[in-house]
Amino acid sequence: MSATSDDCIFCTIIAGEVPADVLGRSEHAIAFKDLNPQAPFHALVVPLDHHENAAASAAADPATLGHLVTLADEVATASGNPDYRLIANTGAGAGQTVFHTHLHVLGGSARLTEHL
Ligand code: 5GP
Ligand code: ZN
Repeated sequence: MSATSDDCIFCTIIAGEVPADVLGRSEHAIAFKDLNPQAPFHALVVPLDHHENAAASAAADPATLGHLVTLADEVATASGNPDYRLIANTGAGAGQTVFHTHLHVLGGSARLTEHL
């Protein structure tokens, strides 16, 4: 898989070509608010390199998921949500709609979400 994909919405956000409400960044990942929040706090944590799902990112570089979890914890805690859920949908049948690896970070009354 290539490092970027021209037709990927998250690659265009990473490139700065589409605006997003950015909550944090690291050398390896970016965190921004979900456009359609499913919880009082709903961020997406996205690796800079394009792979279609978490398993593909892990296969390319096993450290990637650790980087994502670290940034997820930073932005959740910084926003006053030290208790949160992490979700990685894999495959359309599981609800994945953007095929660039991402963790959903859900805080607040997150157990009541409809879609995640
Ligand atoms: P998935 O269903 O693939 O696990 O999650 C994709 C998520 O990306 C959805 O929750 C959706 O609301 C979010 N999303 C899709 N397009 C955009 C966008 O352009 N900007 C932001 N901030 N979120 C997006
Ligand atoms: Zn991408």
